[in-house]
Amino acid sequence: MADAKESAGASNLAGAPGLDSETWEPAPSTPLAPGLYLVATPIGNLGDITLRALDILRAVDRIACEDTRQTQKLLNHFEIVKPTVSCHEHNEHTRATELIQNIKAGKAIALVSDAGTPAISDPGSWLVREAIAAGVPVFPIPGANAAISALIASGLPAEEFEFLGFLPEKSGARRTRLENLAKIAALAAPSQADPRKTARTLIFYEAPHRLLATLADFENVWGPALRVVVARELTKIHEEFLRGTVAEVRRELLSRDRIRGEIVLLIESPAQTVSPGAAQHAATAQEKIADRIARIRSENGIDEKEALKRLAREQGRSKSELYRELQRERAAHR
Ligand code: SAM
Repeated sequence: MADAKESAGASNLAGAPGLDSETWEPAPSTPLAPGLYLVATPIGNLGDITLRALDILRAVDRIACEDTRQTQKLLNHFEIVKPTVSCHEHNEHTRATELIQNIKAGKAIALVSDAGTPAISDPGSWLVREAIAAGVPVFPIPGANAAISALIASGLPAEEFEFLGFLPEKSGARRTRLENLAKIAALAAPSQADPRKTARTLIFYEAPHRLLATLADFENVWGPALRVVVARELTKIHEEFLRGTVAEVRRELLSRDRIRGEIVLLIESPAQTVSPGAAQHAATAQEKIADRIARIRSENGIDEKEALKRLAREQGRSKSELYRELQRERAAHR
């Protein structure tokens, strides 16, 4: 059933000379309508907070925060004095009940996460669902988001994309996830039979210390020609985009001492990157650790132990895990 609530914006429109547009509407004046306001905050650059976000944070009765200390820094910067309350993954369920009671009693409540848009790989979805079920109004206050910021400057297809959040941390689970994604991508890929299907971009959030391991998994599962973009430290001083094939981007990152900062990883998911050739590459890449160790040894004049160490770093895996796999491989070929 359609939600027939009146929006906070529409309920408080002041006259705005010169703004006779169907696209833009003047900002509402206070007091705010009771409801849950999902307020996006910057992902790095403080200048990315919106005028409306500031108005709403100033006007609400209470701000529910993923981390009250983190939000307090933001509020201090903008000289906003407002009661805060925690609402994070460990207390969202119980806090939801309390906040919804507040709203039903006529209060306006804002929800913010540590950075970016609430509910996007952050707490919020539960509270929103509960609020809707309880019949209280929910208002999006849009602003910064890392996935969309990375996508629009990536150079990868933006007509169709899928945001997949964080991949599993454990190597085995991550590979299974990537293999399943590759199968789905093959089904969704453009074909002569159905030319309407277009290349699309898959967007992930990734931790800097797992980036090399994840890229190695992508190369194994999707092949070395997969087009990827690593978007790092968006909107901050050290903002950086690395664009290229997964093999090229891995090479560049391997040449660095350390990978720091916040990261969005994007891949292009067209038919040709999940071709039978790439699948075969994946099979051989996983089987031939002994061959790769031999190549690293001959190229660098180092012993097997050192070569194993380098390969482990390259693949983001532990030496012992790789060694066990090498032993299994050798046993299988005896
Ligand atoms: N809700 C946030 C949003 O709207 O983007 C995302 C929160 S999620 C817990 C945090 C992850 O988002 C980081 O680990 C990183 O992958 C990504 N991220 C956040 N800020 C970023 C930035 N400035 N540059 C690149 N990635 C960022």
